[in-house]
Amino acid sequence: MGVDHPTGATESIAVDDPTRHVTVREAAGERDAFYLAHVWSRWFGTEYEHGHRYSSGRLPYALCSVAGWEVDAEPEHLHGYGVVAEHDPPDRDGRVHVGGGLVTIDTAAETIDNLPDGRFDADALVGERNAWLWFGIVDAAWRGLGLGRRLFEDRLQWARDQGADMAFAYGWEHDGRTSRPLFEDFGFVPVERFERLYEDERDVCPACGALPSNDRTCTCAGVVWARDL
Ligand SMILES: [Zn+2]
Repeated sequence: MGVDHPTGATESIAVDDPTRHVTVREAAGERDAFYLAHVWSRWFGTEYEHGHRYSSGRLPYALCSVAGWEVDAEPEHLHGYGVVAEHDPPDRDGRVHVGGGLVTIDTAAETIDNLPDGRFDADALVGERNAWLWFGIVDAAWRGLGLGRRLFEDRLQWARDQGADMAFAYGWEHDGRTSRPLFEDFGFVPVERFERLYEDERDVCPACGALPSNDRTCTCAGVVWARDL
């Protein structure tokens, strides 16, 4: 099952530099859960797609456990894990989130269901426990310092600790912007590229200008990436 992969590369990471006062840690509690809900909604329109309005105190299902809320777990759905990056300079009051990401673990059946119809054999590709990296976002001012890598690493490590045997993610491509180098450094292999993957489906996408206030939907391409864990 799965794909071959090289080992991941490393680089200087802001979180290892004490002068930058950035921490990357597991998301826990309502403050972190609502931050992740906000990021998810801002970049992917989750609240519009699924009716989960963080502003009215509701959370997407996968973030309830991050908030510490009891939920009636659907038996098919395993669990989720969030990670956040925070800036906490000693000369100011209060910590500020500067990035975050989410990963869930899903069964083979759910994963086959989640994958778009393509030229690949989904049955042969998926594992028994499949990690899905839903999003990993770093604020523009904090990019290029390795935080995105750290968000990746922490989620992959958690997925391995949960016994996941495969990892999947969608990589975005628009106007020359691509997450391809990051996926490749972490040993992911491109399964298939889909032009306008989210067209008619996603009405929020800051990358290509689709917003709830206009009639546009996302025109970005998406690549399905996968790797063995
Ligand atoms: Zn888009």
